[in-house]
Amino acid sequence: MEIYRLGISEIRDLLDKKEASVKDVVNAVYKRIDSVEDKIKAFVTLTKDKAIEMADAAQKMITSAGAGGCPPLLGIPIAIKDNMCTRGIRTTCSSKILYNFVPPYESTVTSRFIEQGYILIGKTNLDEFAMGSSTENSAFFTTKNPWDLKRIPGGSSGGSAAAVAADECIAALGSDTGGSIRQPAALCGVVGLKPTYGRVSRYGLVAFASSLDQIGPITKNIKDSAILMNIIFGHDPLDSTSAPLPVPDFTKVLGQEIKGLRLGVPKEYFIEGMDKEVEASVRDAIKKLESLGAVAVDVSLPHTEYAVATYYILATSEASSNLARYDGVKYGFRAEGKDLMDMYMNTRAQGFGAEVKRRIMLGTYALSSGYYEAYYKKAQQARTLIKRDFEEAFNTVDVIVTPTSPTAAFKLGEKTEDPLQMYLSDIFTISVNLAGVPGISIPCGFTLNNLPIGLQIIGKHFDEETILKVAYAYEQATEWHMRMPSL
Ligand code: GLN
Repeated sequence: MEIYRLGISEIRDLLDKKEASVKDVVNAVYKRIDSVEDKIKAFVTLTKDKAIEMADAAQKMITSAGAGGCPPLLGIPIAIKDNMCTRGIRTTCSSKILYNFVPPYESTVTSRFIEQGYILIGKTNLDEFAMGSSTENSAFFTTKNPWDLKRIPGGSSGGSAAAVAADECIAALGSDTGGSIRQPAALCGVVGLKPTYGRVSRYGLVAFASSLDQIGPITKNIKDSAILMNIIFGHDPLDSTSAPLPVPDFTKVLGQEIKGLRLGVPKEYFIEGMDKEVEASVRDAIKKLESLGAVAVDVSLPHTEYAVATYYILATSEASSNLARYDGVKYGFRAEGKDLMDMYMNTRAQGFGAEVKRRIMLGTYALSSGYYEAYYKKAQQARTLIKRDFEEAFNTVDVIVTPTSPTAAFKLGEKTEDPLQMYLSDIFTISVNLAGVPGISIPCGFTLNNLPIGLQIIGKHFDEETILKVAYAYEQATEWHMRMPSL
């Protein structure tokens, strides 16, 4: 098997047994990038020079590693979504307003990777400021789905998901505010996990909607997801919303039985208008889990119908506040103007794309005096009800299983004219962010057109272990994750 096709733990083995050098691994990945990146366009920035430097350092660490062995990520090529700050390396959020922004500091997640001796392969494309479901809102270019180049990879972490699916990296990080890790993972046939809110430090993640944003892994398999979780999870004094809780070794739950485990199947997630092939695959996946000993139970999440509206009030409100800092003064793009106010206005008018402007306007409106009570406050109340739905359901079940996305990957351009249709792509993922619970998307089938379908497994707050256990049991009993796109 070609090196670039392997996962984290397999490359760890090769490196530790000295069957390959870090340079071999890095070269294999860039060779792959050279041959497919023109078609996929997953990366905003490739960091080859930096990677070669990091590879030399990693190789020295491997050679001198003592009896304790090497840290899991030493010498492993990883791609990072371009909304996480990397010191000295351009971090654009796929926005014109940050096209030349070089952060003077490192995000906590990538700092932890650096401590392990990882290799940064490049920064991946996204919808501008992570606002979107297709990467078509990137100010630079659209990433293509490796399974069908005429289709979108999902979003907003479309670059990361496509890079993993196309074997242009060994694993990647994404961020998820309303589905941006899970939905592209589903549409690209890879594994994507959104942790419980507070599990992973957001320090150095460019803020979109701070009460919803979480960073998480996008990987080729469940084990790799567990490995990355072990590293990025845990309290960080630099993020006051990060939870001061111990982090278990997530690889320990892999292989545990799921006999007697209760799977909630919410009726609100099997709806009119969803794709029949998606529904059939997810129902088959539930049967498969039952055959492994799990017990499927009907549950209800009655406030689901309010989730999309609630999200688009809260997320846009938070975004309107977070994005106020891009004024052309301290960093990023600056336009000319006849006075200060004119400069501000020109900078923001030219620097932001249409979707970002739409959201700033929506959010500013929802927060403005006279409307605050009717929109923002109401949405906060609805959020509480949605969160309670999950708490109620989790009184009787251990995990909840749903489709990740109502359809497989759609065609480029299919929804760009209709923002509401685009917003509905996240109908099954958004509630999970509003409730703050963790969710994972794993491959569970293919459409007749050979497009991947994702199964979403949702867990209780801070119970990522159970969703991993279920995901791993399913993965080991099926072969979906072994299919590869022909590129
Ligand atoms: N697609 C959703 C949005 O456009 C979610 C994005 C995300 O999770 N970052 O806001």
